Amino acid sequence: MSLKEGINFWHENGEKYIPEPSLRENINADFLVIGGGFSGLSTAFNLKLQSPEAKVVLLESEFIGFGASGRNTGFCVAKFGLDMPTIKMLYGRERAIEAHHFSEQALDYIHYMVKKYNMQSEFRACGFLQVACSDSRRKKLLSTIETYEAMGLNGGNWLEQSKVQENIHSSLFKGGLFHEKSALLHPLKHIREWKRLCLQQGVDIYEFSPVQHICHQSQVITNTPYGQVQSKKLVIATNAYMHLIKGLEGHQRKQTPLWAYIIATEPLSDEQWQAIGWQNREGLQDNRNFLHAIRPSEDGRLIMTGNMPGLSFGQMMNRDNNPKVWQALKDNLAAFFPVLKQLKVTYAWGGAISVTMDMAPSIGYLGDERILYSTGCFGHGVASSQFNGRLLSELALEKETALTNFWIVNRQPLAWPFEPLRYLMKKSIVKFMSLEDRLKENRIR
Ligand SMILES: Cc1cc2nc3c(=O)[nH]c(=O)nc-3n(C[C@H](O)[C@H](O)[C@H](O)COP(=O)(O)OP(=O)(O)OC[C@H]3O[C@@H](n4cnc5c(N)ncnc54)[C@H](O)[C@@H]3O)c2cc1C
Repeated sequence: MSLKEGINFWHENGEKYIPEPSLRENINADFLVIGGGFSGLSTAFNLKLQSPEAKVVLLESEFIGFGASGRNTGFCVAKFGLDMPTIKMLYGRERAIEAHHFSEQALDYIHYMVKKYNMQSEFRACGFLQVACSDSRRKKLLSTIETYEAMGLNGGNWLEQSKVQENIHSSLFKGGLFHEKSALLHPLKHIREWKRLCLQQGVDIYEFSPVQHICHQSQVITNTPYGQVQSKKLVIATNAYMHLIKGLEGHQRKQTPLWAYIIATEPLSDEQWQAIGWQNREGLQDNRNFLHAIRPSEDGRLIMTGNMPGLSFGQMMNRDNNPKVWQALKDNLAAFFPVLKQLKVTYAWGGAISVTMDMAPSIGYLGDERILYSTGCFGHGVASSQFNGRLLSELALEKETALTNFWIVNRQPLAWPFEPLRYLMKKSIVKFMSLEDRLKENRIR
């Protein structure tokens, strides 16, 4: 099979998708949510759950799951984004502990939702193994555990090199950390399950309804090409696309998009599976700055993301394809598992994630308490974005809870600079981090 470039493997599940109609009239709502990803759908669902009488509307510019939520690798992990030593260094001990508890609760929340609502998304609580592929990366992983322990937290179970290699046969692995509660899921099926729950709960969803402009008078007025919504409250859950909406001047530099790339191989033969072991088919990740994450699919492929991120300048969003990174992923898969050198890559795609200047998610009011937003959900956003939706719903309903008191709410992260400085800055950070990766590892590029 030849390579399907730019085609997201998750769409190849044989299911015919029926989108909701687009907005073609002017309507009123109590709450309007923009963005049909995990953050937006979870917000809408939780709003309706807590306030059944309210009219809740959700607008998605393309189809549900068009963004990162429908394109990701499906790792469901209790991580806040960066590694724990860096989180502690950037935000301090107390905030690092809070962030860890938040991430654990986010993962518990997905376990709860899948079970309670019988979400059919190939959810498998198989754990997640983070490996080190060089001596210096092994030291880094061990110091990560020490950081967790010094803060009284459980960062996973350490596995020596022989144990890791006995499980997954790669001579590169020098030891690993196993996170038991983590899971894998099929992201597109999962986001469509969120859509099912929203519709069952009574949320009005409009697809192919891009929001072009927002203005706030006595009510918040949101315009799409063929219809308008007047709402009492608005939640902007567009993550990496937030800077594109007009009317948010002054807030457009809160985040900037970066692109993550991903490949799916052809299914492995029984002999190939035997050669690499991997009995439990758990998620696997290395611990570079620009990490690699690899997971088996239900039909026996390997799906791999990571390596260098893609950058864009200004408002450009056309970075979904990156043959250079796809090739690097393929080469590195062969470096992990030389026995898979001939394995063909059959799908390759990419998607935008959102990064704030200080690398932590940012949630809160946008100047006016009627407008809320969520952004900066990057690397490990599958679990946290769904939990962020619950947080956003509580904030929109003006509740004061443990979630709404979490320190990422209503903080004021530094804005990214104007172009061309923003692009130069992102490029320099990426160059520096990838140079460190090269210096600290000799086999993975
Ligand atoms: C290739 C890749 C692999 C990843 N792998 C993992 C992983 O394995 N584990 C993990 O934890 N995280 C992973 N992530 C990150 C994770 O997917 C995201 O953090 C998470 O899905 C963000 O969800 P979201 O709802 O905030 O944003 P999105 O899913 O991007 O949703 C935003 C939605 O808003 C819509 N929108 C934008 N502008 C408008 C507008 N003007 N009007 C209406 N709608 C609009 C978009 O179309 C989109 O559907 C990965 C990301 C990528 C790209």
